[in-house]
Amino acid sequence: MSQATNYLQHVYEVIEHRDPNQAEFLEAVHDFLQTMTPVFEQHPEYIESNILERLTEPERVIQFRVPWLDDAGHAQVSRGFRVQFNSAIGPYKGGLRLHPSVNLSIVKFLGFEQIFKNALTGLPIGGGKGGSDFDPKGKSDNEIMRFCQSFMTELSKYIGLDTDVPAGDIGVGGREIGYLYGQYKRLRGADRGVLTGKGLSYGGSLARPEATGYGLAYYTNEMLKANDSSFTGKRVAISGAGNVAIYAIQKVEALGGKVITCSDSDGYVIDENGIDFKLVKQIKEVERGRIKAYADRITTATYVKGSVWNADLAYDIALPCATQNEIDGAKAQTIIANGAKAVAEGANMPSSPEAIAAYQKAGVLYGPAKAANAGGVAVSALEMSQNSMRLSWSFEEVDGRLQTIMQTIFANSVAAADKYGVSGDYLSGANIAGFTKVADAMLAQGL
Ligand code: GLU
Repeated sequence: MSQATNYLQHVYEVIEHRDPNQAEFLEAVHDFLQTMTPVFEQHPEYIESNILERLTEPERVIQFRVPWLDDAGHAQVSRGFRVQFNSAIGPYKGGLRLHPSVNLSIVKFLGFEQIFKNALTGLPIGGGKGGSDFDPKGKSDNEIMRFCQSFMTELSKYIGLDTDVPAGDIGVGGREIGYLYGQYKRLRGADRGVLTGKGLSYGGSLARPEATGYGLAYYTNEMLKANDSSFTGKRVAISGAGNVAIYAIQKVEALGGKVITCSDSDGYVIDENGIDFKLVKQIKEVERGRIKAYADRITTATYVKGSVWNADLAYDIALPCATQNEIDGAKAQTIIANGAKAVAEGANMPSSPEAIAAYQKAGVLYGPAKAANAGGVAVSALEMSQNSMRLSWSFEEVDGRLQTIMQTIFANSVAAADKYGVSGDYLSGANIAGFTKVADAMLAQGL
C-alpha cells in the first residue's frame, strides 16, 4: 500500500473510532476519502499536515434544548443543532433542516458536504449545517412560529453575518425563515445578512427560491452537453415535491425535457403529459398537502404508493431531489434497467455507496450532489452580497450569475478530474476541486 492509501485508511479508522454510531457522517466521509488517493499521492504536504483529521473534525458543535408550546398548551421539547464545520474560506454557511430524522450524524454529514459544495461555488463561504428533530408535518402556523422563535432564541447567540449564516433545507422555507429572522431581529437587531432565503420585502434575493432546482437543471445540462446529449425530448424522473423538485421540474421542462414523475414520502405521481410544476407548487406550498392530490386533480395522472425508484417506468434521466440514501443498490439497478443514462442529485447524498458503484459500473453519467445542487447555496451567497451592498439585483442578473456558477462548477470538476487522472469521474472531480481549495486555505492559515 502506498503512503497515501495508508494515510486515508488511518483517517477513516480515527473517525470510525471517534463516532462509531454516526452512520450518515461515516458514509459521507468514506465516499469522500475514496476519491482522494490521486491527490494524496501527489501532495505529501497534505499528509504531513494531517489535513484530513483536521478537516473531518468540526470546528464547533452546538446542541441545545428547544422548548415550545403546542396549540393544546402542552410544553414540548425538541433538540436543536448547529455544526460549524469549517471557516477556512469564509463564514459558516448552510441550511437548517427540520425533520424527525435529524440527529448529530445527519447534521454532521450535511455540514461536511457543505464545506466542499460551498468551496465549489467559488464564493467566500465556509461550511455549516443545523436543524432540529422537530416535525413540521401537521403543525399549525402558530406552532411553527413558536418553535422557530424558541430555536432562534438559542441559535442567535452563535450566528452573525460575518460568522455563521443559516438558511433553509428540508422543512425550512420562506415562512420559517421569516419567523426565525423576526426573532433574531427582536433579540439582536436588524442584521439582514444573518440569514438567507429571506422574503423579498426584507432583504431576500430574487431567484433564491428557484436556485437549487434551476442550478440542478443547468448543471445536468452541462453534463449532458459534454457527452453530446441534451434535455431535448428526454424523459426525466424526479423524486421529491419540495422546493428543489418544483423548480427542477420547471427548468427541465424549459430546457426541452419532459418530467413524468415526482413524489413525496408516501408515494409518487406519473403524468405522461409532463408534470405541471405550478400544480405541485400549489399543493405543496400553498395547501401544504400530499402529492396524491395531484392525481386527484389531473385525470390523466396516476398515483402509486411507495418509492418512485422502485417503479418500472421508462426514462432517460433521473434527478433524485428528496433526501439522503433514497436510492440504494437495488433501486439503482432499477433506475439503470429503466433506461437512465444520467443521474444528477438535487438532494444531499441521495445515492448510497452501492448505488454510486452501480452507476459507475453501468457507465451512467453521475452528477454528485455537492456539485449538482450547489446553486441554492450559491444564490444564498449572492443574497449576502446584495445585503452587504444594500441593493437588489434583477431576476435576470441573479439567474445569469447562477448559470455561470453552475457552468464553472462543472468545468472545474472536469479539469480537476483530468489533472488527477480520473477523467469523466465528476464525483472525484468535485471532491478534488472542493478539497484542494479548502485544504490550501487551511494550510496557509497555519494549525
Ligand atoms: N440547504 C441548502 C444546501 O443543502 C442551501 C444552504 C444555504 O443556502 O445556505 O446547500
